[in-house]
Formats: sequence, C-alpha cells, structure tokens
Amino acid sequence: MQAGDRERYSRQILFAGIGEEGQERILSSHVAIAGCGALGTFQAAALARAGVGKLTIIDRDYVEWSNLQRQWLFEESDAEQALPKAAAAARRIGSINHNCEVVPIVADLTASNIEDCMEGVDLLLDGTDNFETRYLLNDYAIREGKPWIYGAAVSSYGLVMPVLPAETACLACVYPQPPSGVQPTCETAGVLGTITALIASLQVTAALQILVGRAAEVPRKITTVDVWSGAIRQMPQPERDPDCPVCERREFRYLNGEMRKPISLCGRNAVQIHERQRPIALKDLATALEPLGDVRVNEFALRFFIPPYEMTIFPDGRAIIKGTTDPGIARSLYSRYVGA
Ligand SMILES: [Zn+2]
Repeated sequence: MQAGDRERYSRQILFAGIGEEGQERILSSHVAIAGCGALGTFQAAALARAGVGKLTIIDRDYVEWSNLQRQWLFEESDAEQALPKAAAAARRIGSINHNCEVVPIVADLTASNIEDCMEGVDLLLDGTDNFETRYLLNDYAIREGKPWIYGAAVSSYGLVMPVLPAETACLACVYPQPPSGVQPTCETAGVLGTITALIASLQVTAALQILVGRAAEVPRKITTVDVWSGAIRQMPQPERDPDCPVCERREFRYLNGEMRKPISLCGRNAVQIHERQRPIALKDLATALEPLGDVRVNEFALRFFIPPYEMTIFPDGRAIIKGTTDPGIARSLYSRYVGA
C-alpha cells in the first residue's frame, strides 16, 4: 500500500468485509466497464474512489446534453465539446483518483475486439444498453472463467444478476433468447438517475465482494427494483440449465461472431441493418417515437427523422440508417430507438 492509502481508504479498511487485505486486493485489481452511460459512469466513479488499480472503459458514444441528468462523471463542458464518453470519463477519473489507471477505448465492443479490450481484466461490469453486447460479454466471461455482473435500467425500473462462471446460472441459462419486438429504451420511456445509481451500486458492491475474495457472499439472486413505486423484489437465481448452450455446451456463438446482425453500406451515406426476425408493430413504435422527432408511418415502413440521421424501419426489424457510414453509430441508433 502506498503512503497515504491507509488514510485515504480508512473507512473501507475499517469495514469488516474488506479490511486491509481486501483493500490491497482492490488496489491491484483490473475491472472492465462495458458501456459508459448511466450505469457505467457510476460504476467507474465508485470503483475509482474505492481504489481499483486499473479500469478499462469501453464505449462508442459521445457525451450529449441529455446524458447529464444521470451520467455522473460528465460535465457541461463534455457535452459542449461532444467528447467521447470513454475519454471524458478517463479525464474526470484522473481528478478523482490519479492512482487509478484508466484505459479508455472509444469503440463498439464486438467479437473482433473483445479479446484485446478485456486483456488482463479480473471482472466485467455490464453498463451496456443492449442484449447483443450482453450475450457477447456472457460468452467471453464464461469461456475465460471471469465473473461479470449483469445490470439494466429503464424508466424507474432495474435489475441486477451476478454471473459466476461454473457456479451460478449464466445469462443464457436465465434468458435463452433476447427479448423480441420493440422494447422500451431510455430514449422512448425515459429513465431516472436514481434507478441507474441504485442498480450500479448493487453491481459495484458485488464486484467488490468478488475482488476482495469474498465471492461466496455475493447474493445468488435476481434483484429487481422500481424506485417510483418503491417495490424491491428478490428471487433466487435459477439453477444452471443442464443444457445451456453457453455454460454447459460451450457454444460461444456471439463470441464467434455468428449472431451479429450483418451490416452493410447501402448507397453513398447509409447503412443497412439486416435484421429479419424481430417483428415490429410499426404503429406502436411510431407512437413511442413521435415525441422525439418527425415520424411517418404506413404499413410497409416507418421513417424517423432525427437530424442528421434518418431511420427507415421495416416490419421484420430491418432498418436503413441514412446520414452515416459508421456501423457503430447505426447500431447505437437502432438500439436506442428500436430497442435491443
Ligand atoms: Zn448457462
């Protein structure tokens, strides 16, 4: 422990579950945060303050004004400059705890870069907003035997579940298929900063328990919370599925890139997402999107104008996104407005 650390982390060292040995372990640990939005910024700030030695932060988006209501690490100047979230987070963490080494990665986390992104990581935290990336994290974590903590929040509601490889159920045991159709997103249903902070707090606490060597104390539960109604529910985490394709049969289809919806350039400044199995009720989606921008809908397609982009969405889930040639931006827009 460096000079000053005993004082700096004294309240955590005094806590019986951590102690000096636990603090030493935290100081030498490396955590990856996938997605640096409301959950990810809170996780990063909490872990940096707790003394985690190294943080890898992966995010593909840029800070916007609508993020500031709940994304704890960001400031007005970050939104003004439209800084990449991973870079803005790294800068801010530098002033919270300069001993915490931050590796910011401005990228879409995919099967092709996850190995590099996660090198040397002890534990993964879910700060993503989509199931495709969560199944990828699950594949990687199970294959590598690394724990990860699933968390999600939208509106006033959220959920947490720990995944301890070879021990607890994994994401695919509990949710064999991603949700289908249109899902509420923070863009369409809104989100409270208090639910994201609460869910991220539960994720970070489980992470600290694992990092200090007390994984046995992580609650084997699925915890759901609605901060608006005050309903807090916990159910025992289901047993591992003896036929789970991921943690039993070890078929890592997301990690092998088999499950990624193909994306192709289409025209001079547009990208097509080739989804065919996500039936979408266009009228319902139009109702959800109307407050956010100009929407035109008929039985064949929905067009949504969100300058500088224009999305055309078809009833089978396929979409064309005009205004970009960047597949990461196209995927981001799709997951934000259609759901993921
Ligand atoms: Zn499983």
